[in-house]
Amino acid sequence: MTAERFEALYARVRGCTLCPLAKTRTLAVPGEGPVDAEIMFIGEAPGMNEDRQGRPFVGAAGQFLEELLAEAGLKRNQVYICNVLKCRPPGNRDPLPTEIETCRDYLDEQIDLVDPLVIVTLGRFSMARYFPGQTISRIHGRPKESAGCFYVPMFHPAAALHQQALRATIIEDFRKLPGIVERARATRRPLPPPVPATEATEPRNSAATQLQLFE
Ligand code: URA
Repeated sequence: MTAERFEALYARVRGCTLCPLAKTRTLAVPGEGPVDAEIMFIGEAPGMNEDRQGRPFVGAAGQFLEELLAEAGLKRNQVYICNVLKCRPPGNRDPLPTEIETCRDYLDEQIDLVDPLVIVTLGRFSMARYFPGQTISRIHGRPKESAGCFYVPMFHPAAALHQQALRATIIEDFRKLPGIVERARATRRPLPPPVPATEATEPRNSAATQLQLFE
């Protein structure tokens, strides 16, 4: 059922003409990964390689992302990966506010369908959804929890790829992910079923009842 809803969503994204990026893209890039992934990564927008292949994070940033996932003991096919924008902005310029707004429903639906335990934002545009007004240099790697989901702001792998000083920082942040996932699992773990009312009350011959009788 969820798989069918995903296919319907991907088909809508691939045929989307809601904003002018539809005219300049080669392929729209809906996202990919298991529908029941525990961790979801949200990047910025497709680049040149992603635009050609219709898949997220397949260029240099994608290769580095896979190395970072390995630092967290994860394989690419275990996580869900998508972007704020589903189409490449010409020349890799920053997404425009109107484009982010137009694309918002697609991302909202993906988050709703995957229902991840942990959402990792890669870069400032996905970070802005959950940490408005914050700066990545101040909050990177520090999760916040809301309604059973842990949100983790991370530097964008492309930024870390080109700035040697950020490389060690982003690796360190990714190494925290397994612990964050564990905390998220514990937070989301269903409570044990309620004890039936008859068993919930003290049985008549319990120590507490006997004590009362002797008082
Ligand atoms: N950068 C992104 O933010 N997303 C991609 O898919 C590739 C590079």
